[in-house]
Amino acid sequence: MAYVITKLCLNCKDIACTQVCPVDCIYEYKGDDPSIPKEMLLIDPDECIDCNACVPECPWEAIFEESEVPDIFKDDIELNARIVGKERFVPKRNPDDPIPTPEQIAANKEKWGYKP
Ligand code: SF4
Ligand code: SF4
Repeated sequence: MAYVITKLCLNCKDIACTQVCPVDCIYEYKGDDPSIPKEMLLIDPDECIDCNACVPECPWEAIFEESEVPDIFKDDIELNARIVGKERFVPKRNPDDPIPTPEQIAANKEKWGYKP
């Protein structure tokens, strides 16, 4: 098992999660494979130690333990696994980036048809 970043991160990517991951296993892809998005971060399932630290840190509520990934985001389990062994880096948060409002967070979920 591992934790999974869902598409709720796509184009939100505020990089709060990498600040707390104790094993630095949350990555941004930097290669040329168009099937691996650069507009969201991905968790390496082979390196994740299931500590849960990233979940409360994510303002967009985009991260789930693998068995709890909502059906609508199930494909993201395999998407995260694509980062294994690829060109990648651990990005740092820009402290000047704004924190999303509750309305923005709700609108992002609605955009993906996710109803918790
Ligand atoms: S904190 Fe959440 S939204 Fe921000 S980069 Fe990490 S997973 Fe994506
Ligand atoms: S669960 Fe822990 S080890 Fe896994 S990605 Fe989140 S912070 Fe990192």
